[in-house]
Amino acid sequence: MTIDQFLEDFPAGRLGREMFAIAEGLYPICRSITGEGLRETLRTVGRRIDLTIHEVPTGSQVFDWTVPKEWNIRDAWIGRPDGTRVVDFRTSNLHVVNYSIPVRKVLSLSELRPHLHSIPDRPDWIPYRTSYYAQDWGFCLTHRQLEALREGRYEVCIDSSLEDGHLTYGECFLPGSTKDEILVSCHACHPSLCNDNLSGVSLVTMIGEVLSGLERRHGYRLLFVPGTIGPITWLARNEQGATRIRHGLVAACVGDAGPLHYKRSRRGDAEIDRAAALMLRGKEGSSIEPFSPYGYDERQYCSPGFNLAVGSLTRTPHGRYPEYHTSADNLDLIRAESLADSLRAYLEVFAILERNATFRNTNPKCEPQLGRRGLYSATGGLRDAKAAEMAMLWVLNLSDELHSLLDIAERSGLGFDSVSAAAKVLSEHGLLERVDRDSDRSE
Ligand code: ZN
Repeated sequence: MTIDQFLEDFPAGRLGREMFAIAEGLYPICRSITGEGLRETLRTVGRRIDLTIHEVPTGSQVFDWTVPKEWNIRDAWIGRPDGTRVVDFRTSNLHVVNYSIPVRKVLSLSELRPHLHSIPDRPDWIPYRTSYYAQDWGFCLTHRQLEALREGRYEVCIDSSLEDGHLTYGECFLPGSTKDEILVSCHACHPSLCNDNLSGVSLVTMIGEVLSGLERRHGYRLLFVPGTIGPITWLARNEQGATRIRHGLVAACVGDAGPLHYKRSRRGDAEIDRAAALMLRGKEGSSIEPFSPYGYDERQYCSPGFNLAVGSLTRTPHGRYPEYHTSADNLDLIRAESLADSLRAYLEVFAILERNATFRNTNPKCEPQLGRRGLYSATGGLRDAKAAEMAMLWVLNLSDELHSLLDIAERSGLGFDSVSAAAKVLSEHGLLERVDRDSDRSE
């Protein structure tokens, strides 16, 4: 079965529930850019798809960066002298600044205060903070908790370790009938945060599950990486392999109720950019923005030394919803229906890329006589027949070896499915010949 055929009877309800359950299962884990939480997350994903887990040693040079020490944490708290915990890592892993160095000391409130982070405007939310590349420690707490702290002595403990170890990332490759590849990348380094992080992990996992059972012209390379250092590490280890990537998408923030949003690749008009725009055509509330060198891991894939055709398909983009990077980005913010709708959008883009091709009209001098070939009596109602006829006329007219089916769909305003179906029936009648060539067959 091809991807477009799968979409005809798309089981949105079932897949949405499964994706939500994946996020729910991963939610309690304290992840970071290295360490056991990330490993456990990848092992969980690896129980659903064929994932290779790579371990890259601390100190490895990856372009201008160095793989950092591995961070692990067991417990952390701020306690009163009587032993009661006023801030407790066990109730939320966001309470500790991610990558905090180990600490155990007694401090006055004024000494402790510079290490505490809250959001005054959102007094019930815990912020998410990190300190990956500066050795530091701190706690994040609700503003109400912060204001309730009285003068006095506090015991602080962060039972963490920052030692030589590994950076871990996961890679799943589903080969296609050609050597061309589609990259789908998500960051998997945030602790208990749902839309920014777990929604992407769950979506890419489900993409792997679904695509593993479907016909593929492209190979699909799915990456689960810690943000920034992850794609840098992958690119440093796969400089040659990266040249096979024809199209790519960075997945994040795909579970909230907002409409779909696409951020173009640095190239701006790559096939992926045009396929994504075509997929979004007519989708209510959807929006498209140009590339900028800020955001998620498209920053690395689109750096000038690679300039890969990688965009980012999300719902509400990072930083544009109030719950972003706070404890309110939780399981209540993401919805099974949104996850399923995002999955459908990704598969629709892939279905366009899989079928896009360029043809030559074998009968270019005036229109071929379609009636004589029975091409007017397409099945379906009168309206379908009319639409199919329009699609055939467009495909015949623009198939001059210069226009792809994507070009034809853009220019005609017709859906890609209609254009592709017309090309199929015209090819079967010998009126079209494919002229573009896939890269070398993989077999
Ligand atoms: Zn984030």
